[in-house]
This record gives sequence, structure tokens and C-alpha cells, in this order.
Amino acid sequence: MYDIIIIGGGPAGLTAATYARRAGKTVLCIEKSGFGGQITWSPKVENFPSVESISGMELGDLMMAQAEHQGAEFELDEVLEIIDCGAVKQVKTEFGGVFEAKAVIVATGAKPKMAGIPDEESYLGAGLCFCALCDGAFYKGRPAAVYGGGNSALQDAVLLSDLCSKVYLIHRRSTFRGEAKLVQALEKKSNVEFVTESTVSALSGDGELRSITVTDAAGNKREIEVDALFVAIGHAPDNAAFAQLLELDSAGYAESGEDCYTKTPGVFVAGDCRKKTVRQLTTACADGSAAALAACKYIDEL
Ligand code: NAP
Repeated sequence: MYDIIIIGGGPAGLTAATYARRAGKTVLCIEKSGFGGQITWSPKVENFPSVESISGMELGDLMMAQAEHQGAEFELDEVLEIIDCGAVKQVKTEFGGVFEAKAVIVATGAKPKMAGIPDEESYLGAGLCFCALCDGAFYKGRPAAVYGGGNSALQDAVLLSDLCSKVYLIHRRSTFRGEAKLVQALEKKSNVEFVTESTVSALSGDGELRSITVTDAAGNKREIEVDALFVAIGHAPDNAAFAQLLELDSAGYAESGEDCYTKTPGVFVAGDCRKKTVRQLTTACADGSAAALAACKYIDEL
């Protein structure tokens, strides 16, 4: 039996693993797709303290190497269920694994919703982006597009309009779901063009994104040259499998305080899967450390 099982191997989970190991606890970190999480999609990370510039993939590798160096163990598998047996939690995985621990940290993240454009996965890290704050600076002086009509898309467009030569804001409806104040701010920008009642139907490039095709409600197609498409059509947390043990809000995020405790003793949440206002690399790491220390305290008091 492990002291702590961490579900999710992104920055929150890997930071939790390092902290828990340094507190002397045995740790198993289970990740379903790739250690490093969302950050591995960022071509460059320049907002992580102490590191001037690093690829997200490299940063993810470093975080994993650090946790491994501290003695954490890893499994690449999908957790399907956590069974709460009181002082022992059973974690069941897709490949038939049944692992036990005294505490579990759920750090499953939240995935930006993909737009469903053909071939979109091949442009990840090559012009298809999900975070203007993280990646906008790489497209300074170049044309970019934002896809979506909520506050995230509007805020992304505002941020990019100060960096990019031109910003196309593409939205499927004629009115925006996001705040009118942001729409008005964008209307005043000379380098922002609204492309409404349109969807992005194709991506083209030579390994890097070079243009997008938008299709309007009447079926007319237009090719727009851009070096980046920032998709901002919402996020989806990955908590559904644990709904019985966590209190989820209407969007599926796990309710918890800053201490990362949940309604189930011995089950903690960390990172983007948690209900919170700022979802950044640094806040995910902060959650990882808080959740690990909370889990250690819980175990020590058992
Ligand atoms: P959101 O409000 O759910 O907006 C998503 C947008 O994407 C909508 O305009 C939606 O179009 C569009 N969309 C959804 N699926 C699509 C698809 N398959 N293809 C094309 N377009 C699609 O998401 P969000 O902007 O990420 O915001 C999430 C929550 O965080 C919201 O409550 C938002 O207010 C909040 N937020 C707040 C702030 C702030 O500073 N206060 C900043 C960011 C986000 P339709 O409108 O047609 O449905």
C-alpha cells in the first residue's frame, strides 16, 4: 500500500509527488496520457519563475525527473474509479490495476475543448494554441486568430491585439456570450477584425500553421493567413469518474478550499480540476504543494 496515490501527472500532480516524497511518504503517480500534462503543448514557457525560457515538454520532463529523483513511482494508465474504504482508498485502473493508498490527490486537470477542425491535433504546438497569456508573445508582430465568443476568447483577443499585427476574432454567432465591455474595447482596436456567424472549417500549413479557412452561415468560405489560432471555446475538467467522492460545481470542477481538502476525508484535489479563478502553471504547482502537505498531515493524524 502507498501512502499517497496522485491521479494526474501534470504540474500539480508532479509537484505534489515531489513534496510528498520529501515529506517521507511513499507515492504513486498515475497518468493516463503523457506526464507533464497541458504544459507540454506550449512551445515555450517564459512565465515560470527562475526559468527564462524553456519548452513545455522540457519543463514537464524536468518536473517528472525531479519527482522520480525524490523516489516517486509512476504508472501510465487511466484511473477509472476511487473506492473509499475509510482509512484505505482503492484506485482501479483501465488496465486492471488495483492500487491502495491512505490518501489520494486528484490532479486530473482541465482540458481546453478542441474545436473539432479536421487535423487539428497535428497543429498542436505548431500554431494551434489554447492560452494567449502563455503563448501570445511568440506571435508578436504576426497575424493571429481567436476562436470563441465567451470571456476567454474576448480577453485573449484583447491581449493579442497589443502584440499581434492583426487579430481575427471568429465566432459562430452574431452576438457574444462574453462581456459587452470587452466587445466594445475590441471594436475600438484598429487591428481587430470580427468574423462572426462563422466557423473555422480547415487549417493549412507546412508543418506550422499558415492559414485557416472560415465558413459563414451561408456556406461561403474565406481563407485567412494567420500564424496562430487561439481556440477559446471553453474548458472541461476531467472529474466525472470521481463525482461520488467530490462535490462538483455545474461545470464539473471540484469544490475545495485553498487547503485542497474535499468532502471526502483522505481525498484531495489540486490544479486545474479544482474550482478556482486563476488556472496557470504556477497556481497548479502551488496547489500540488498544498494538497501534498494536506495529505501528509491527514496521514500523520490517522
Ligand atoms: P464560455 O463562456 O463557455 O464560452 C465559450 C464560447 O465558445 C461560446 O461563445 C461558445 O459559443 C463557443 N463555442 C463553444 N463550443 C464551440 C464549438 N464547438 N465551436 C465553436 N464555438 C464554440 O467559455 P470561456 O470563455 O472559456 O469562459 C468560461 C467561464 O469562465 C465563463 O463563465 C466565463 O465568463 C468565465 N471567465 C471569466 C473571465 C473573467 O475575467 N471574469 C475570464 C475568462 C472566463 P456560443 O456562445 O454560441 O455558445
